[in-house]
Amino acid sequence: MAGKISRRDALKTMMVGGTGLALGTSVFSCNSSAPSAPAAGVPQSSAEGISTKYWESTGDTVSLLGLGCMRFPFMEGSDTVLDQAAINEMFDYALAHGINYFDTAPFYQGGESEIALGIAAVRHPRESYMLATKMSSHHFLQDNPQISAEEIYEKSVALYNQSCERLRTDYFDYYLCHNIGGGSGGGIPSFELRFIRSGVLNWLMEKRQRGEIRHLGFSFHGDYRAFDHFIALHDQGQVHWDFVQIQMNYYDWTYVGNGTDNAKYLYDELVKRNIPVVVMEPIRGGALARVSDALRDRMAQVRPDMSPAGLALDYVASHPGVMTTLSGMSNMEQLIENINTFSPLQTLSEDEQAVMETDIARLFGENRPIGCTACDYCMPCPYGVNIPANLRVADACTSQLNMPNPDGEHDKEYMRKRRLFLNRYKNAMEPEQRAEFCINCGQCQPKCPQGIRIPRELEKIQTLVEKLKRT
Ligand code: SF4
Ligand code: SF4
Repeated sequence: MAGKISRRDALKTMMVGGTGLALGTSVFSCNSSAPSAPAAGVPQSSAEGISTKYWESTGDTVSLLGLGCMRFPFMEGSDTVLDQAAINEMFDYALAHGINYFDTAPFYQGGESEIALGIAAVRHPRESYMLATKMSSHHFLQDNPQISAEEIYEKSVALYNQSCERLRTDYFDYYLCHNIGGGSGGGIPSFELRFIRSGVLNWLMEKRQRGEIRHLGFSFHGDYRAFDHFIALHDQGQVHWDFVQIQMNYYDWTYVGNGTDNAKYLYDELVKRNIPVVVMEPIRGGALARVSDALRDRMAQVRPDMSPAGLALDYVASHPGVMTTLSGMSNMEQLIENINTFSPLQTLSEDEQAVMETDIARLFGENRPIGCTACDYCMPCPYGVNIPANLRVADACTSQLNMPNPDGEHDKEYMRKRRLFLNRYKNAMEPEQRAEFCINCGQCQPKCPQGIRIPRELEKIQTLVEKLKRT
């Protein structure tokens, strides 16, 4: 694999003191020592037409749209067996149209995502795509809260090796300490156990030094105080974060969607330090695509030719510190639409961004859904409840202004919404997976990175369903 070796050789020349990068390198400055390279951090059109950015700090040119691989399509009638032929087709199309960043994790889709991505990717030259996966050791703590640092180390090494096997590679372009922060990541104490006391962070940094990990970062959900702690490690020179993945969209920018994250704060802190930003949930698990007619009309005033999903992606990618925008795509239709949005990116002006962050975010917030992104972190429920399926029926109806109110007037409009909700609810899951089977054990609650009070929301849904059936 000649391409891989030359990439590593190039990498070695970039390494400084084992950290992989020189602290203080400007991401946004032009690379005057390499006249043939494009200006760093400025969107360029690739040969395929998609917008990319060259990052001086990493030496990579990355497509501004990345393929998030947590929502790969399943075979018809199955919710466990992935449709490999469809995934191969999506991968080939993505690559042919200039997407070169593919993000997965060991537990996405029960581990099937890594396997399917590996099968699809290995049919192409390794240097033609970049793989990102994660150290998802928060799962070890969820399974056994008493786990020792030694056990964490052993399991983490095994998980890393498993990712190599599944993704059919012996190096990762981007590797993340997964889900550190609050929520299901467990905050600072969990990070200390998972990565510091276990020795896993040192082990990962050694891998970076050897070129087996090209760039090391973390993905974050949670409280800004935890974020400050992780960034302080960078400032103090204990670890150099090459990139950081955060949840960012026009609603979370300052509207603080889940009560803890504030994307603007996180983004600004990263940009200050020239750390490239990878964005997750730019469409909030699809909620920003399924908007009300009123919101759609308002968005059309910003860009009449763009869909709500396209505008949400455009908003995120218009920020100069964003390296790539991960969208979890499930079919060719979504992939083609998203590629069109980025081919090339129609960067929003500051005024247009401001409208998105204020008027449009406020309008969305007025009919704010529960905010489930269907990440499945809370699953499985030991009592068989399909948590995301329940929550997302409510979310879809809320964000489309179709939520029936059984305590209001029972007019024609109510009857329409009632019928719509009950039909969607019936079709979304098997009867034994419905909210009524939740016994409020609370096991799912701490696992939700969005901070959703799951048992309470399920109870509300169950109450609503009962009322709707009676009216
Ligand atoms: S609280 Fe309800 S949904 Fe959550 S794990 Fe327990 S039974 Fe399942
Ligand atoms: S409830 Fe939370 S953890 Fe569960 S799928 Fe939704 S966002 Fe993810």
